[in-house]
Amino acid sequence: MPPAVSVQHVHKTYDKTPVVNDLSFTIEAGEMFGLLGPNGAGKSTTIRMLTTLTRPTQGQIEIAGYNVVRKPSQVKENIGVVLQQISVDNDLTVWENLELHGRLHHLSNPKRQSLINQWLEYVELIEKKDALVKTLSGGMKRRLQIARALLHQPKILFLDEPTVGLDPQTRRRLWEIIRDLNRQGMTMLLTTHYMDEVEFLCDAYGTGKPGRIGIMDAGQLIELGTLQQFKARHGEGLIMKQVGDRFEYTFFPTLEQANAYLNNLPDKTGMMVRPSNLEDIFVELTGRQLD
Ligand code: ADP
Repeated sequence: MPPAVSVQHVHKTYDKTPVVNDLSFTIEAGEMFGLLGPNGAGKSTTIRMLTTLTRPTQGQIEIAGYNVVRKPSQVKENIGVVLQQISVDNDLTVWENLELHGRLHHLSNPKRQSLINQWLEYVELIEKKDALVKTLSGGMKRRLQIARALLHQPKILFLDEPTVGLDPQTRRRLWEIIRDLNRQGMTMLLTTHYMDEVEFLCDAYGTGKPGRIGIMDAGQLIELGTLQQFKARHGEGLIMKQVGDRFEYTFFPTLEQANAYLNNLPDKTGMMVRPSNLEDIFVELTGRQLD
């Protein structure tokens, strides 16, 4: 089986400015992959190239074995896309939006009706099927987008910043839906600038198979792996030292080593030991904090 996503030496340039700069990575079928990075890192541009919405300036992208430039129709059959901008039609009902999408994908009846029912049940919008989309909350619209993206039974789901602007309960509900779909076998690529989102979705602290995280900055992938791999590379223990109104961070391979180092210091004023987390590693790598 070909990889779900294959990106090889991809560049994207707008007006001579590189936005994506020699990006390469592969996602296997069934993986959960979180692309994390600050605003302007090039995440949306990457997802737009992967989903045929914009062409790479240079390099190769294959989705389910199909080249995005040469075989866009086959790519579109294999993918579902949930973009940042709410792209459902506000003047149609929930059902009509799905009906339209199903027809565009040549799903014939009775299968179309049964799939619409199935996915509306799944995202808990069946009671709203006759409501005009403009009357739905932001979270409901996002769930409708997910139902629509799944209607033609794609193998790979792309989600660009899926929970921006949503309240905490709605974010949690969406995370559960996204994680459940992945556990059913759907390959997922999502972009986000929220640490907690990748920690939850890539099951960084859980017991299941952890997803991989790609950290993107200034158009490049600067780190790739599971959170456990990141910690093994950068250090599992951390000493924070207050210097004026800021903190300095020093990584240690293990928490025990960080503790031993601190215990041997005569003056421990303003210092504390704790386990490292994704945000520490992100700040170490990029020299910046998100938001
Ligand atoms: P992210 O999703 O990580 O926030 P984007 O991919 O949206 O990053 O943007 C990366 C950079 O590319 C930004 O500096 C943005 O202004 C620029 N950019 C994105 N789309 C266009 C475009 N259509 N024309 C010119 N510049 C663009």
